[in-house]
Amino acid sequence: MTTDEQKAIESEIYAFIGQEVYPPTPAADDINDAMIRQWAEIMGDNNPAYLDKDWAAKSIRGNTISPPAMMYVWGQEGFQVTKGRAPNAMSNLVSVFDKHGYTGVLGTNVKQEYFKEVSPGDNVTIEMIIDNISERKTTARGTGYFFETLSTFTDQSGETIGTQRFKVLKFIPQEQPAAAASEDKLDVPTRIASPRGYDNKWWWEACDDGKVLIQRCKDCQTLRHPPRPMCGECQSMEWDSIESTLDGEILSHTELHHPKIPGYQYPLVCAVIKLAEGTNLVSNVIGCDPSEVHIGMKVKGVLEQVDEKTMLPQFYPASPGIRP
Ligand code: ZN
Repeated sequence: MTTDEQKAIESEIYAFIGQEVYPPTPAADDINDAMIRQWAEIMGDNNPAYLDKDWAAKSIRGNTISPPAMMYVWGQEGFQVTKGRAPNAMSNLVSVFDKHGYTGVLGTNVKQEYFKEVSPGDNVTIEMIIDNISERKTTARGTGYFFETLSTFTDQSGETIGTQRFKVLKFIPQEQPAAAASEDKLDVPTRIASPRGYDNKWWWEACDDGKVLIQRCKDCQTLRHPPRPMCGECQSMEWDSIESTLDGEILSHTELHHPKIPGYQYPLVCAVIKLAEGTNLVSNVIGCDPSEVHIGMKVKGVLEQVDEKTMLPQFYPASPGIRP
């Protein structure tokens, strides 16, 4: 990129600093228990300050409050977004970046600050501006610019309840290695790699070695899956494991149609399988037509190499005559 090209884009993008993305817009609905309940369930947040009226009545506040992290929820536009939005300063800024080849996009961080609690019956107004745009930066993802929006949330009396800063990197994607013209074979996509952390790496490594293990508490012998450091029954951190026979029964299943993710074979049936040992495992059911898969179906698992890198248990109908 020449200096002139850089000057050209910067004169365009920096003009957006301070521009309004959304004018102050009151939420369509007041803060309400139904939305709070859904949010708290999904987030697994059981704080009684949000929904337990009796608890809240005896608390220092005297009433329930909305989870502070929900402030951005109240102004969401819902399904109308799928029909498209009128252009605004942010979409126009993104278009300028795209026009100059900065087509990559990566949300990099969100920072919320809370200043005032709000409760069911209050109404949240959101206003968003483009607050700042960085100088040109070179990152591991490519060269580009960070831009940050600042959303300010106020209640019906105009008091600020919180702010949210959302930072996005728009960058020129690094060129991919040329298609494997000089190579003998094209790269075949693999499945999404297993997340191997401190507490579960051993489970995946056992799969690599051809075994499906089930974690067992050393103190009370309770089996558990997926792997985790502590026994849910007796809180012991001591554990060993047993090898599963991979005899199982389908508890629930679904067939994934869209989007077709590279590296996976379709039809793709995913099922929750109750193993004979008592724990559940999410896996694929293969070796039969997806329409034959049903709740209660007996299945038998086999560890298979599903792609170049991955060994995974795959389950077949256990009926006689069908593999294995
Ligand atoms: Zn235990």
